[in-house]
Amino acid sequence: MSLVDGFGRVHKDLRVSLTDKCNLRCTYCMPEEGVDWISKAKHLTIDELRRVITLLCEDGINEIRLTGGEPLLHPEVVEIVKMLNELPTKPEISMTTNATRLDTLADELKTAGLKRLNISLDTLNPITFKELTRRDGFEETMIGIKAAQKAGFEPIKINSVLMRGINDHEAVGLLDWAIENQFELRFIEQMPLDAQHAWDKNLMITQEEIFNMLSQKYELTAAGNRGSDPAELFNIAGTKLKVGIIASVTAPFCQSCDRLRLTSDGQIRNCLFSLSESDLRIPLRNGANDSELKKIIFENIAQKKRGHGIGEPDFVQPVRPMSAIGG
Ligand code: SAM
Ligand code: SF4
Repeated sequence: MSLVDGFGRVHKDLRVSLTDKCNLRCTYCMPEEGVDWISKAKHLTIDELRRVITLLCEDGINEIRLTGGEPLLHPEVVEIVKMLNELPTKPEISMTTNATRLDTLADELKTAGLKRLNISLDTLNPITFKELTRRDGFEETMIGIKAAQKAGFEPIKINSVLMRGINDHEAVGLLDWAIENQFELRFIEQMPLDAQHAWDKNLMITQEEIFNMLSQKYELTAAGNRGSDPAELFNIAGTKLKVGIIASVTAPFCQSCDRLRLTSDGQIRNCLFSLSESDLRIPLRNGANDSELKKIIFENIAQKKRGHGIGEPDFVQPVRPMSAIGG
């Protein structure tokens, strides 16, 4: 049976948060200090992950993106990739990471079966990096990116969030760097998922602004037909590369959303912005059978809303910050 919601959207892409922990503290994602971590006992074990993900794959999930928090902080991340790669339905395994631990892990992850990498980097300036992430780590990130290239990940996608007055002047510089290194750069509009609940639409850098900044140097033409890809892609004249803009706020793509989320403590979420989630961990640990677990999953998907509702008068930001949902 496919994982279809009430609007006919078929879910094929599962985002799995391996941990809510992170070694950076990006201002748009986490508070500087004082995070309420999910307790270790609540984290799904590898066997529990295998059980839940196998059920989801039986019903049509064919892409699994590991994320977090920082997925590379999970002590068994390589074993998890290997386990997923051995699932009978052979889903495609990808990961979103801040790259700080790729220096030691890139080769092992590649061998374990990780197919694609999205690396998050918002600035090429070490001082801005520290201001934005409130941690040291610029050098490790750059070394990690090199290690990913060396391990043969291809293409590497880079995710960047621009923040007004902090790194928005780097839009063109980031694209120059991406072209030089043959990376596919994707700018993401900042969403209201910060732990401080301080997001302000007026401070956000919009898709239109990003496009205009890039167009001052580059000729961009729409690449068309994005399918369920959240990024609108543009061809960059004179190169074989594309640049993407994920305009979750100003041009939402909810109508083609095929994503489902599993948090590290075993909650199924049908949207980044859901205010409710369905617990699989306790039923799993209490001995629920496959059809009981599937019933929970299908009921959750059936409740998926038409859209995220950002900007509508009744919009309420979810309690979980991005780091505990899995971006
Ligand atoms: N730690 C990993 C990383 O940074 O790549 C994976 C988790 S992180 C939550 C996944 C992606 O979400 C990153 O590319 C990050 O830039 C993005 N992100 C986090 N908070 C965001 C927000 N409030 N708005 C838009 N993107 C956000
Ligand atoms: Fe950590 Fe990624 Fe969130 Fe930055 S965006 S704080 S790297 S989880």
